[in-house]
Formats: sequence, structure tokens, C-alpha cells
Amino acid sequence: MSRPGSIGGQSGPEREFLTADVPGAPERALAELIAGNRRFVTDALWHPNQNASHRSAVATEQHPFAVIVGCSDSRLAAEIIFDRGLGDLFVVRTAGHTVGPEVLGSVEYAVTVLRTPLVVVLGHDSCGAVQAARASVATGTPPSGHLRAVVDAVVPSLRRAREAGVAELDGIVDIHIAQTVEAMLKSSETLAAEVAAGGCAVVGMSYRLAAGEVRAVTARPVELAGALVPTA
Ligand SMILES: [Zn+2]
Repeated sequence: MSRPGSIGGQSGPEREFLTADVPGAPERALAELIAGNRRFVTDALWHPNQNASHRSAVATEQHPFAVIVGCSDSRLAAEIIFDRGLGDLFVVRTAGHTVGPEVLGSVEYAVTVLRTPLVVVLGHDSCGAVQAARASVATGTPPSGHLRAVVDAVVPSLRRAREAGVAELDGIVDIHIAQTVEAMLKSSETLAAEVAAGGCAVVGMSYRLAAGEVRAVTARPVELAGALVPTA
């Protein structure tokens, strides 16, 4: 069976690397991610790019087609839920997909050096980091140690949710995903410039733990939202 897109599964000299310099690359990268998630949801996995020959092929250079800035939750493993393999995804994960300088630096590296054309902020339902932040605010008790940094990074999203009249956890998660996208674009001039130039897009997605499905929350540029799976 032909597996299209050579980002899709093949390796070797015919492989086309999907980078920011390829026309339409953000849309194609997004379509590839969504297709992989469909395979995961329907239990029709390809497990692309996971064999020894591909491991050898990518040992000397990498051209990942998407950056995933995801929550660290153990059930949100990027290569599994998007049915991808070695060299496909540049993954940065923190609890609650909170974004600090190291995360931004990693994203900037992927976008400017590796020319990765798509950045996805990936949250999920029942997020423990969002729950922890909500509990901390409700009780007025900040967590101890460095966990406080995670909670503090989520608090602006709680504030925004309150202003919007959103009290249900998964609605707050969506707001936090959108807030993370905005914070990244605001904090990284480099990323914002790449998006403005059209070589890179930033998309917010939410994953449902039980269904295994991703759906769109937000997209920059907004036109990209048309390529996303409909909101459930
Ligand atoms: Zn989480």
C-alpha cells in the first residue's frame, strides 16, 4: 500500500522533507498529524518510521514536520497518538504545557534551525495541572517547591476563564490551550515572525483521553482552522 507523503512513512532518497520552505507545508503537516490521529482512533495504526532502516536513515540529520508542545501527562505520548515515528515530531512537554524560556528556546530551534513548519500546543481533558491550579486558587494555598511555577503559569488562564464565565474543567482547559498559543506568540518574536512570514503555523489542540481524539481549539493563522477536524 502506498503511504502518501513520504513524511508519511517512507524513508530513503525519495523522501521529501516537509519544511517551512516548502509551499503549503503547515497545512500539509497538519493534515499528516490529523491523519495519524485518525489511524490511532480507529486502531488502524501504521507505526511509520519505527524500523531499523529508518533509524539509520535519520541518524545523521532530522527534519521533523511538527513541534508538539504538550502536557507531560503519561497518556499523551505524541508519537503514539499521532501514529508517527523517529524523526517526525520535535516534542517538548511540561505539566500543563506551561511555557518558559527553555520551552520557547526549543521551539525556536525547531522552527528556525530545523525549519519545522507547524507548532501544536496539545492539551487534554481532565488535565491535572489545571486542576492543581484551580485547587490552589480556591484554597489560597500555593503548592510547595517548583510545582508553584506550573500553577503560576496556569493562573492567568483561570482568570480568563472566570471572566468568560467558564467554570467547567474542560472548558478551562480549552482556554488554557488558547492562552498558551497566545503566550508563545507574544513571548517569542522569532516564532511570531515565522508565522507572519507564512512558513510556520501554530495550532492549539485538545485531546480526549478516553476517545483518543484530537480536536482544534485555535489556529494561527486562523485560515488554517479550515483544515482542522470539526470541534466535537
Ligand atoms: Zn495535563
